[in-house]
Amino acid sequence: MTTIYTAEAADLAELEGATIAVIGYGNQGRPWALNLRDSGFAVSVCVRADETRERAVDDGFEAAPLETASDADVACILIPDDVIPALPIERKDDQLTIVASGYSLAFERFAPPGDLGMVAPRMLGPEVRSCYQEGVGFITAIGIHHDETGRALARTLAIAKAIGGLDQGGIALTPMQEAVLDLSVEQLLSPALTHVNRAFVAVMLEQGIPLEAILTELYLSGEVERNYRLLREVGFSDQLELHSPASQYGQLARRGSFDGLDIASKMREMVETIRSGRFAEEWDAERDAGYPKLKELKETHAGAGIRALEAGIRRRLGADRER
Ligand code: NDP
Repeated sequence: MTTIYTAEAADLAELEGATIAVIGYGNQGRPWALNLRDSGFAVSVCVRADETRERAVDDGFEAAPLETASDADVACILIPDDVIPALPIERKDDQLTIVASGYSLAFERFAPPGDLGMVAPRMLGPEVRSCYQEGVGFITAIGIHHDETGRALARTLAIAKAIGGLDQGGIALTPMQEAVLDLSVEQLLSPALTHVNRAFVAVMLEQGIPLEAILTELYLSGEVERNYRLLREVGFSDQLELHSPASQYGQLARRGSFDGLDIASKMREMVETIRSGRFAEEWDAERDAGYPKLKELKETHAGAGIRALEAGIRRRLGADRER
């Protein structure tokens, strides 16, 4: 049975008197620092000397150079996974180091001494802050990679609780499980859904339906995201009752229509490149070359052409109007 940690299982007193460093002040770093401070901890933000440092200072934090995180009892590492191995910090046996993703541990890119824990929010950075402020919290994946002191789990859970990451439960995962799942959502599920959406758009265009109407169905109306919200809040069976009988019948009667397509085989092949570490090697090489392929891919699939097309459709549909 999977272990789910609750807020009651964690005790903030485990970190009483501890010095806490948050390394990085980006998507996750800023929300973590703010949430930890609001939970009563003194946090120092360790950043390079640039604009994110100014942002941290504007938010009232004491900003310090990256190297000073070496002295903190707890260091939360919140910079992109591929640059974690090059961090100029040294950790000690009695300290705790926390990462927000299993990646660097699973693929053996980072192995500092001392306790090593993972608190991986299943939530985008700014939402980590909003959910904390709203008092609802968010789900996290919790893992202990190394327990040097016997207090790794207790201290890791205290950090998770302090950022709001146990309010909806912390799912126990190893860093490898977290990394495989996270990368698979990005590399298997997202491209598969893109493929399905593109096929749907092509077939609807063949039927003479305007692109604006198709994109409205896919995401512009907001109906899909609201349906997903209902799915989360009330479950599949109850949300189905909110659809018309024809819709219910159509969805259920055609359910198995694509069962003959062997998508799982392709996914199995792709997940192997993740688990074996081949993707991590590819991403290291991309980093070392200065991310040329990433820049090219973003220009092709999310560049000026796509932005202009989307902006035009949104304008015509009045989607930019204030609601
Ligand atoms: P960001 O890209 O937002 O991190 C930006 C911060 O990292 C900035 O402060 C930046 O400083 C600093 N930084 C970048 N490169 C370096 C470097 N070479 N040396 C030192 N500092 C550097 O990262 P995220 O917040 O998106 O991700 C942080 C961690 O959280 C990762 O482990 C990620 O997997 C995990 N995570 C992220 C989620 C998300 O929603 N984005 C969700 C769940 C987990 P500067 O301004 O100097 O560049």
